[in-house]
Amino acid sequence: LSGKYDKDKGVNVQVIVRCRPLSVDETRLHTPVVISCHENRREVCAVQNIANKQIDRTFHFDKVFGPSSQQKDLYDQAVWPIVFEVLEGYNCTIFAYGQTGTGKTYTMEGGARKKNGEIPSDAGVIPRAVKQIFDILEAQNAEYSMKVTFLELYNEEITDLLAPEEYPKFIEDKSKKPIALMEDGKGGVVVRGLEEEIVTTANEIYKILEKGSAKRRTAETLLNKQSSRSHSVFSITIHMKEGTPEGEEMIKCGKLNLVDLAGSENISRSGAREGRAREAGEINKSLLTLGRVINALVEHSGHVPYRDSKLTRLLRDSLGGKTKTCIIATISPSIHCLEETLNTLDYAHRAK
Ligand code: ADP
Ligand code: MG
Repeated sequence: LSGKYDKDKGVNVQVIVRCRPLSVDETRLHTPVVISCHENRREVCAVQNIANKQIDRTFHFDKVFGPSSQQKDLYDQAVWPIVFEVLEGYNCTIFAYGQTGTGKTYTMEGGARKKNGEIPSDAGVIPRAVKQIFDILEAQNAEYSMKVTFLELYNEEITDLLAPEEYPKFIEDKSKKPIALMEDGKGGVVVRGLEEEIVTTANEIYKILEKGSAKRRTAETLLNKQSSRSHSVFSITIHMKEGTPEGEEMIKCGKLNLVDLAGSENISRSGAREGRAREAGEINKSLLTLGRVINALVEHSGHVPYRDSKLTRLLRDSLGGKTKTCIIATISPSIHCLEETLNTLDYAHRAK
């Protein structure tokens, strides 16, 4: 997906790779490292030399962040230009894609907010983006309104992470109206029944984010680690009032989607034994379709299969057309993850 920038055709997909450091346990066990990152050359190399199994592959991306990269580096170098586009009226989406345990949630959410509302050094993309958006709007003295939604997609079903219930809707009683996706006839999609929270300060968004992630974690323990199979979508919509040179008033609208995708191991496993994966109810349809949609956009092939999954229907107004997309592929440096790491690098590279 990387490197395709085509303003005329409106395709702008950026692919970056981030490799996490070895964990404390992996370090203690002297886990061999098989990945090396060359940030300057924007390359990731996978090398393994075992007698009957030699692997030596190099991948090139738009940006590469090695194990010692900090949250701030990734934000400043790869994300802030995208957030800036949102304030210019673009719909933008940032995806975290990768095997479970490689740092998708760490990259998107990161450490918790400090008591005094300050951004901690390990804060991820979402809190940093929120802070930047408010800082810019305040500095411009802009007249604006902002609303956020936070949902989870599991097994092609939507759960509202901001719903007032104690537990997510899918384990609530069935008499409640399910959340439904409906086309609005203008190329967009409306999610019926989804909570939209109006926010006026960054602090409010942090609270909403914490509430939603806590709900996600509850569901995770209740429902056997389902979060590795679910996608979470945090969306911020901003309406900004603008004066034209002719003295008229215009409303500019931008939207930022921050998506923590399901673990990519589900997609590769299902590829190998699709029947069993489907029986197990694995939610790979959205992940597979996302790959196809991005491929179609990047290759300018006529048909873009948005309608084939909930995730791509949901993000339709933010994929293709006048939009920007960034995929952050997360990987582990460990020898034990090599197979999945190669799958992730291949997927991300195909998206180029
Ligand atoms: P995922 O969401 O992809 O399943 P997590 O974000 O939960 O993975 O990360 C797994 C573990 O690795 C967490 O304990 C997280 O704090 C840690 N981790 C991930 N990426 C990094 C990183 N770049 N630097 C430091 N720790 C990280
Ligand atoms: Mg996660």
